[in-house]
Amino acid sequence: MDSASNTPSPGLRQKLIIAASAAALLLAGLGLSTLHERTASEMQARKNATALAFEKAPEQWLAHPREASEFERALQAKDVAAVGVSGGLVLYTDRSGKFFSTRLIDCGLGCKNEIGSRLGELSVAQGFALTDIDVDARTSGQRLFQSLERAANVLGPILLLLLVAAPLIYLQMRGGLGQRTRLAEKPRTRFDDVIGADEAKKALRRVAAFMKDPKQYAAVGAKAPRGVLLDGPPGTGKTLLAKALAGECGASFISVDGSYFSSMFYGAGIGKVKELFKKARESAPCIIFIDEIDGIGKRSNGKEAGGGGGEQEQNRIINRLLVEMDGFAALENVVVVGATNHVDNVDEAMRRPGRFDLIVRTALPTVPEREQLFGLYLGQTKSAPGIDVASIARTAAGMSPADIANCVNRAAAYAAEAGEALVSQERVYQSLETHQLGGEVSNTKNLITPETLRRIAFHESGHALVAHVLEAGSVERVSIEPRGPALGVTYVARANEEPLYGERELRGRLAMMLAGREAELIAFGNASSGAADDLKRASELATNMVGSLGFGKTFGLLSMAGVPRELIGPDVQKSVLDEARALLESAQAECRRVLEEKRDRLDRLTEMLLGQETVSGAPLKRVLAGDTV
Ligand code: ADP
Repeated sequence: MDSASNTPSPGLRQKLIIAASAAALLLAGLGLSTLHERTASEMQARKNATALAFEKAPEQWLAHPREASEFERALQAKDVAAVGVSGGLVLYTDRSGKFFSTRLIDCGLGCKNEIGSRLGELSVAQGFALTDIDVDARTSGQRLFQSLERAANVLGPILLLLLVAAPLIYLQMRGGLGQRTRLAEKPRTRFDDVIGADEAKKALRRVAAFMKDPKQYAAVGAKAPRGVLLDGPPGTGKTLLAKALAGECGASFISVDGSYFSSMFYGAGIGKVKELFKKARESAPCIIFIDEIDGIGKRSNGKEAGGGGGEQEQNRIINRLLVEMDGFAALENVVVVGATNHVDNVDEAMRRPGRFDLIVRTALPTVPEREQLFGLYLGQTKSAPGIDVASIARTAAGMSPADIANCVNRAAAYAAEAGEALVSQERVYQSLETHQLGGEVSNTKNLITPETLRRIAFHESGHALVAHVLEAGSVERVSIEPRGPALGVTYVARANEEPLYGERELRGRLAMMLAGREAELIAFGNASSGAADDLKRASELATNMVGSLGFGKTFGLLSMAGVPRELIGPDVQKSVLDEARALLESAQAECRRVLEEKRDRLDRLTEMLLGQETVSGAPLKRVLAGDTV
């Protein structure tokens, strides 16, 4: 039996709640006014005849206003037959049956008007009727105006509330509609479209096999996968992989992100979860992709203080998600894929068996993968022939596939801006530099004097030459165009990105870092502030080599990282610094030797840079190798 037919859908239920709230508001309003009317009529019934006479036609008294002093005189003359008091307003009838009204002066808080306070005693002494009345002294025009004003005062906030709430309710209802119309697409992406990520693809292929033929797995009692967590840095293809998984098994693909479930209306987030799973079941086989799944938050265990309503709502959303996943029937064929950059932030309960129990990691691409990625994205543009994709890929260390896609796209935009028909290698490098150095060529360029430019050219040439000769890495490109904070840049890529650094490579890197300053000293006899960053990085590396990497002599294999702080006294600190300094000085000597020995190459590269601003590719390789042709 279809139990769903008896239960309103979450969207419908939400609307019912909204309608019920509006009705309750209306009923509360009606209830209040009925109560008010009933109280008024009860009070009326208890009033005495004199009061009723005053209240029936107060205009007759109000039409003859008198000064308070005249009322006082009438009292003194014992000429008063009946008095009705309504606040400061007094209606009175004299002994001849004439009607008058007056106003007693309000003498302030805590002060009683003298006549007013004596009225009771006078009424007993003189035998006139005295009663409280409820009379409105305003004209009918004033009354109408003031009732409108009062109505506005009462209704205003309600109207305001409605005005504010209506769009929200509308949006919320649209959100509900949005859930229903959130399309389950059928992606055409395949695993082959995803470059690299071999481990991830291997794991997901198993899930795909399951989804393609769930019966075969069920027949041998294998449990269907329910949740997969993709964990990796941004832009490493988590979404792409999830789409490829759907594409491989012809499944539908519904994509939301963690924040999709949060709502300003209590309970609406749970409705969204239910709606999402309902839609997925209808579209099965289906992949529900939840990007930034940690955005749903971690469940609190209720022990920590400060868990407000929002936190409870988060707990309820996570619980609902888990209930939905636990409720997958064996052959339902819906798999939830969550993506996160911080798997530790994903609630532990979510990672238990039967839930998101398969964790698949994505990583930044290796050099060959970057080469493929540049090839792929350049292939989608009109690129110039002969681009050295391998060199670009080496230079693009640390970039994610998404960064690479962006970089190629920006290169194409540069080419278009310059009116060029093809995307050249130079444009790709230009775009790479923008990415890596955090900016376009800066305005500093206009401030640089020819002499400073010459210094920068020597500085960069020094880095490049020493890196090449001491094999600190492969020198890909040298530029003296200022970008971001850098006045010039030398790209030195590691030949391969193996995780270990040998001592020779580390010493070579130290020398390379110091080479800019050393080249300045050789060429000009003095150094500049331009080496500040180089010195900082060299000092970091040298102290690390001595203190933690085991290249120091005094401490041998002792690593400062493992020694308790209290045991590291000033003598130890001094020794580390002395040794690090000795390392730097030996690197400096090595660097000077190379630069002096290859001075001709240094001068030649400097001149090339001054002429072209940027040198890369084969001409760079030739000058560094000392080829004169
Ligand atoms: P994530 O979900 O990990 O943040 P995406 O899958 O959204 O990353 O990747 C963003 C874009 O980067 C994709 O649309 C695609 O163009 C590109 N991309 C990411 N990873 C790869 C990959 N492994 N192969 C090819 N392109 C990729």
